[in-house]
Amino acid sequence: MRAVRLTPDGIELHDDVPDPVAGPGQAVVEVLAAGLCHSDLTVAARPEHPFALPVTLGHELAGRVVALGPGAAGPAVGDLVAGYGPRGCGTCRSCFRGDVNVCRRRPVGLFPPGLGADGALAERVVVDAASLVPADGLDPAVAAALTDAGLTAQHAVRRLDVAAGDLVVVIGVGGLGHLAVQLARLRGCRVVAIDVVEAKLELALRAGAERAVLPDDAEQAVAELAVGGADAVVDLVASESTLAAAARLVGAGGVVSIVGVGSARLPVGMHAVPLGTRVDVPFWGSRGDLVDVLELGRRGLLEVETEAVGFDDVVATYDRLDRGDVLGRAVLVPR
Ligand code: NAD
Ligand code: ZN
Repeated sequence: MRAVRLTPDGIELHDDVPDPVAGPGQAVVEVLAAGLCHSDLTVAARPEHPFALPVTLGHELAGRVVALGPGAAGPAVGDLVAGYGPRGCGTCRSCFRGDVNVCRRRPVGLFPPGLGADGALAERVVVDAASLVPADGLDPAVAAALTDAGLTAQHAVRRLDVAAGDLVVVIGVGGLGHLAVQLARLRGCRVVAIDVVEAKLELALRAGAERAVLPDDAEQAVAELAVGGADAVVDLVASESTLAAAARLVGAGGVVSIVGVGSARLPVGMHAVPLGTRVDVPFWGSRGDLVDVLELGRRGLLEVETEAVGFDDVVATYDRLDRGDVLGRAVLVPR
């Protein structure tokens, strides 16, 4: 079958990847849609990996169950499903609560599909049946985008603990960011969005941002809307300049959420950030967050901007994603 794989030479399309077979507790899912995440570029750029190459990318999955292994409980063959990506030990306090994304044990060698185990940028993928949630009533491209872009945004915005009327700054209006804008708006917040690409600023306004500005105009936009800074800043880039901006834009008692996996660091301490600043470093999301964000999509409360691409265009689309040239989420639709 066809699959987009991370190899020692980079990201490649392969035509001859063996068809996956469901082991005990597993399901084979025919991929209907699989998202391309900016994290894939960061993973691909690392000089070393804790997992073996080649490995199939794709940690955003929507599809149809086509086979079940022995003892697989949950979905039935034929069901439309989305994949919950995080993997944990299943028994620690975090996992037991459904917060598998922050498993306290993080078992060595246990990798999410697409981030170390073979993922969804393929015709078929094998995953734990228990990681599949119903995705009926959703366009598969939207369901796929909601499993990471949506899930991570939902988790990050939930943890901001913001209230109606609060001012939220969203830095980086990409796959995750355009959903973070909407999720903040759904909580009644006002949003200032920041991006370096004009088309993303237009997307942010369509998503409900009150102001969408280039980085140089951010301080003035925030000052016009709130006295003393923003209640929350969500940084979906995490470069030196965006984290410095986050520290300048957040108001006393506010929160900075560092979602981007950029390599920059935010100095935190007395006089480094405003008094009472909280800093969060959220990762992906809980099982409950996925159920919630899929439901928001199902009820038409989230407008997910997707661009469907075929197998032949995935590698070039990653290059475009790297250049900031994808609007919303690019999603592989195999046929
Ligand atoms: P994306 O490429 O779709 O979006 C990034 C956006 O940031 C683009 O619109 C780009 O134009 C904008 N941008 C770049 N430099 C900027 C700057 N200096 N100021 C303002 N905007 C700028 O990426 P994505 O898939 O939405 O992912 C966003 C980030 O979140 C990535 O770093 C990704 O690795 C990370 N991520 C984190 C988690 C997590 O669990 N913490 C999960 C998924 C993705
Ligand atoms: Zn991701």
